[in-house]
Amino acid sequence: MAISPYALRTVATVSASAVVLAGALVPVANAQSSDGLNFPSSSLSSTPGQDNQEGTGGPKNIIYMVGDGMGYNHVAAANLYESGQTRYQVEGEAAPEQLEELEGEAVQVYEGDDWNHLAMATFQEGNSYDGLRAWSDHNYVNEDFTDSAAAGTAMATGGKTSNGSLGVSSDGEAMENTSERAKAQGKAAGVVSDVPFSHATPAAWAAHNADRNDYHAIADEMLAGDLDVIMGAGHPLYGVDNELLAEPNYRYISEEGFTAASTGETDFEYFEEDAAFEALANGEVEEGTQYFGLAQVASTLQHDRTGASAVPYDVEQNDVIDLATMSEGALNALNTDDDGFHLMIEGGAIDWAGHANDIARDIEEVQAFNDTVDVVVEWVEENSSWDETLLIVTADHETGYLSGQDELPGWKALHGGAGEVPEHEYYSGNHTNQVVPFFYKGAGSEDIAANVAGTDPVRGDYIDNTTVANLTFNEWWNED
Ligand SMILES: [Zn+2]
Repeated sequence: MAISPYALRTVATVSASAVVLAGALVPVANAQSSDGLNFPSSSLSSTPGQDNQEGTGGPKNIIYMVGDGMGYNHVAAANLYESGQTRYQVEGEAAPEQLEELEGEAVQVYEGDDWNHLAMATFQEGNSYDGLRAWSDHNYVNEDFTDSAAAGTAMATGGKTSNGSLGVSSDGEAMENTSERAKAQGKAAGVVSDVPFSHATPAAWAAHNADRNDYHAIADEMLAGDLDVIMGAGHPLYGVDNELLAEPNYRYISEEGFTAASTGETDFEYFEEDAAFEALANGEVEEGTQYFGLAQVASTLQHDRTGASAVPYDVEQNDVIDLATMSEGALNALNTDDDGFHLMIEGGAIDWAGHANDIARDIEEVQAFNDTVDVVVEWVEENSSWDETLLIVTADHETGYLSGQDELPGWKALHGGAGEVPEHEYYSGNHTNQVVPFFYKGAGSEDIAANVAGTDPVRGDYIDNTTVANLTFNEWWNED
């Protein structure tokens, strides 16, 4: 394989940027190297007597599903609405020794006993997470939270960076991401999102830019690259209601870039009609083709549609392709590569609903993401197996500080029944530094479980948001 410019940097910057205790990775605030955390493989193997020197190759396929902003209570609110049941509820004083999660039922497939569940810390470079403080002071998690660019970069590259930076360290140096590693190993790679394809989370697995808002350059970089699949929203000719605009809006891709892509001047096969997404989902895919699917909608598939919702689905949804169908098509396309693949799937608009403190659309978006998980699980069981595929369902951070009503200074549970909007309150219009849920199943699961970074008094053991990428680089996908 060709040595990527990033591989050398990765090796060169392995340094004492974290304290490694008994195999656990304990990030130390302000002690990180400026270009992120990169661990030698020896620090990630914690099973005594187990020789991971060469590794097992780990998972053949990695499917990394990110509910943007989907903290515990976003999963919980959608579950309450769906079934009247939920987990993860916390009720009591701001005192960690008195708090624990209340009993609750599993609702989603990923909450089942045949899945694994940890929490994940989400903080960016220079920050940290302290569970004792988080559950002693309601406001603690409102400070120093990550943005989606730094969080996506951590998950994609295994290195921490500053907010706003995408695929680059805080001093602007490019960092290898796991899509690039997949390609370097002869595998396929792709990104799918229900927000603009050039937005922070998909771009973290596809671009390198010190400014996440530099959408034109990010889109150009993505469409000049070698990803096998790029799908998302952000169509310049369509509005938020799937309607053709009188005047195009080139916010997420430049006019030049869009013209090149849509007229076949890039290496990507371009498509935008629902029927074309459906054809891929039905298995009409060709090996060796790079697919760029741009849904006929402006910013989000559904979240931004006109009208205010009091309850989920009270405003008719757009007639545009859904995340589940896009994802199934992406999986079919990537699976034409016999060597395996990496796919990042983002439920991006959960975050937009969290910022807007809009519970109805928050639930809609979590449900659309959950429907996508169901399709992905079915796809793995029909087309692959848990012996060769790792599926992750997690979040990049929590958004909106969604919790029970009138809970200050402690915590209260969400309350509700099936078909009802839960009693709730948002305590922020922005992100929080809460740990987020991390569900996983399949190949490589033991390696993840062996790399717990800390223990939260309420949520339990957590990994760091850099953990999976560092396993990918150092343990799983490092064949010469
Ligand atoms: Zn985010």
